[in-house]
Amino acid sequence: MTRTDDFSNPLLERLKAQVPFLWVNDRLRPAADVLPALPLTHTDIQDAASRLSRFAPLIARLFPDTGSDAGIIESEIVAAPRLRDELSHRFGVDIRGDVWLKADHALPVAGSVKARGGVYEVLVFAERLAVREGLFTTSDPYLKLASPEIRRLFSRYTIAVGSTGNLGLSIGISGAALGFSVTVHMSRDAKAWKKRLLRQRGVTVVEHESDYTSAVEAGRQAVGDDPFTYFVDDENSAALFLGYSVAALRLAEQMKRHGISVNERRPLLVYLPCGVGGAPGGITFGLKHIFGDSVHCFFAEPTGSPSFLLGMLSGFEQPVSVYDIGLTNRTEADGLAVARPSRFAASIVENLISGCLTVRDEDLFRFVYALSETEGIAVEPSAAAGFSGPLLLLSTKEGKEYLRWHRIEDSIGDAVHLLWTTGGLLVPGDDFEAFRLRGEQTYGRTKEG
Ligand SMILES: *Cc1c(COP(=O)(O)O)cnc(C)c1O
Repeated sequence: MTRTDDFSNPLLERLKAQVPFLWVNDRLRPAADVLPALPLTHTDIQDAASRLSRFAPLIARLFPDTGSDAGIIESEIVAAPRLRDELSHRFGVDIRGDVWLKADHALPVAGSVKARGGVYEVLVFAERLAVREGLFTTSDPYLKLASPEIRRLFSRYTIAVGSTGNLGLSIGISGAALGFSVTVHMSRDAKAWKKRLLRQRGVTVVEHESDYTSAVEAGRQAVGDDPFTYFVDDENSAALFLGYSVAALRLAEQMKRHGISVNERRPLLVYLPCGVGGAPGGITFGLKHIFGDSVHCFFAEPTGSPSFLLGMLSGFEQPVSVYDIGLTNRTEADGLAVARPSRFAASIVENLISGCLTVRDEDLFRFVYALSETEGIAVEPSAAAGFSGPLLLLSTKEGKEYLRWHRIEDSIGDAVHLLWTTGGLLVPGDDFEAFRLRGEQTYGRTKEG
């Protein structure tokens, strides 16, 4: 008997058939009711932000590409009116409201949203280790962590992680820069260039023929209880989650700077590409603390790997994997190719997310192409998963019901749709050109080719 016998849901058939759709979360509750009962608080987000500020001088020295932000790893928000018009035209849906991008595809250091969570987790570990060994206190200047003595300490430790690519990049690049040994267990999905880049930085890359969950497990086993190895547990890490959540504080300031206020009459609709749920979960958690019920967060997953949605439908106690319902977990969106969600992330955002949506690989390429043509911006396919959010919200029965239910059907013209573009900076030119071309070739066709 498979786990799917335990629950029945008419939506299961749509998931199995890989038909893209929008699912609205009937367990969404007011932020003011949900947030006080959670194990993490607003103070935890602020602590993470303070730690990142303390580390900024060190990050600036190790990563000059943080440029004018001097050690603060951050991306811009960018208005994308041409993309809005193009998507409206191409997909025949009038996208009312403004479309903006949160440009995490350009995040320095690791080139993806993982530069928030992954780098933060490495910094937390480094700080804790140096303090524990009596070589550092948190009131010391953080540049001291680059001293020969502390680098020697770090070099005796290994950081290990399982990844489909981008988490490995962020942990590998930042860990190696601080002087740690890093071992990345890559799933079969990882792109060749990501492995190459890591090896150039002196990171040990172990290639697995299996999927993400198995690569994580292999990594965990290999580490065992070695006291000199630290295992980054993407599926259960509070540090990763809080690193991601800091984005919300920064976003709030950026919106203010652009004169965009968020309130009942000007709702903020956020579309987040989702793998295990840590990145979109941490961001949602942060945004709900700031904007409450005026922010609406939707998670976007490939039709081949809708693991978080499946968890929302089947429960997270013993999450059903996408294999259990006959899906392959094969997708070109390597950053999202996971069969099982993070229970940790889910337990926090279960009652905070507005819904989930699924998107076909072919549409990801079309979105990559459309973004490149209209705004001249290059992202990887995973990073475009959220683009079908406004289309589904404004055109489907479920989406229209959501707008009515939350009384935003009248204010939708004043809404801000924020597409979180989660990766792309480090993609080699030839790889990007292949993505773009694939989108262009099927762009005119309306039926799946
Ligand atoms: C990892 C990743 C995500 C999703 O993050 P999860 O924590 O796995 O949900 C989204 N986009 C890109 C490009 C990623 O690499």
